Amino acid sequence: MGPSFAYLAIMELSIPTPVLILLVLPIVLGLLARRASNNHRIQTDPQRVFTKEQRIHGAARSGNRCEHKPIIGRRCTSPGGQGDHIWPWSFGGATAMSNYQNLCGVHNRRKSNHRPSRLYVWRLERRRRRYFPQGEDPHVEWRIGRAR
Ligand SMILES: [Zn+2]
Repeated sequence: MGPSFAYLAIMELSIPTPVLILLVLPIVLGLLARRASNNHRIQTDPQRVFTKEQRIHGAARSGNRCEHKPIIGRRCTSPGGQGDHIWPWSFGGATAMSNYQNLCGVHNRRKSNHRPSRLYVWRLERRRRRYFPQGEDPHVEWRIGRAR
């Protein structure tokens, strides 16, 4: 393969390297600055905690049982009763049933504000299909405005 098109184009224009750097540098710095500021600006749900109605609903749809299940072993047999944001509220998780899981105190404290992996969410959605009542959506909404 010969030299790339971009390389040939630059050679054809015969732009001196320092000038080229001066042209490209502001664009690169601008992109980096935008990325950095996005990391600090997380849009959080104005509703911080789940309502009593949401917790009752969440407990009922999970069969009044903690939804935690280790990779190896059985699902937790505790009744749960604590509402957990699957995608943490502090990272932009919605205070909605699509981001709710019923956990016991132990598993809620252990999960804390950890962001779930794709595998974690996939496993939860998969086992929910077995115990969620008909008409309940097992899908998890990852972030505000990003329902799937
Ligand atoms: Zn548990």
